Amino acid sequence: MFTLSYEFKNNIPVFHCNICGHCNNFIESTSHINVNRGCCWYFPKYTLMDIKNIINVGKIDFIYSLLKNTKAAISQYFIQVHGFYDKNKYNTYNENNLPISNFDSKLFFKSCPFIGESGCTINFQLRPHPCNLYLCREVIKESGDLYKNYSLERKDYYSYCNYFNESLKYDLIDNNTDLLQDASKSLNIIEKADVPTYDPMELNKI
Ligand code: SF4
Ligand code: SF4
Repeated sequence: MFTLSYEFKNNIPVFHCNICGHCNNFIESTSHINVNRGCCWYFPKYTLMDIKNIINVGKIDFIYSLLKNTKAAISQYFIQVHGFYDKNKYNTYNENNLPISNFDSKLFFKSCPFIGESGCTINFQLRPHPCNLYLCREVIKESGDLYKNYSLERKDYYSYCNYFNESLKYDLIDNNTDLLQDASKSLNIIEKADVPTYDPMELNKI
């Protein structure tokens, strides 16, 4: 039986769906790179708000590990960890196949650096928030009308993150720093920043 539920812990939300990991025939989980990775083709992008949440759960060392990760692209206000992308295979595929409407087939050739044989190798509190709130079309279809509140909750949490991300960015600007100029100083400012916690909805299990 299909189930979808919601957990909120330490200011970090996550949707739990029992068909994740059992979805080989879904478009989102299609993989042409011999990696069974569900829809984990995402290259995790850690915004300042994701970083703040991770620091608040006592895992600043994880942020330092991202900063040292050779696959990480560090920008002024975010860190993105790049995964695998077989561009040559994609180009060959693209020459021989018609485009799929509403889906970027490049994703068939990508995988996240944190994927392991049994799924994601990091705790949900160490993931960027899009990872925890993404659901594919099949899951949305299975959820029916009850999905509306899940969708609303996701939008509200995204808005909350966007708003306070800007606020953290201006804290760094006011202090003449950013992740590129001085990562330690920036993390220290982010840690001390006063950001109110999100007020989650009560979502019924589907
Ligand atoms: S969201 Fe859909 S495609 Fe992604 S892991 Fe879950 S069931 Fe699979
Ligand atoms: S961090 Fe984990 S959940 Fe997010 S895309 Fe990577 S493997 Fe999937």
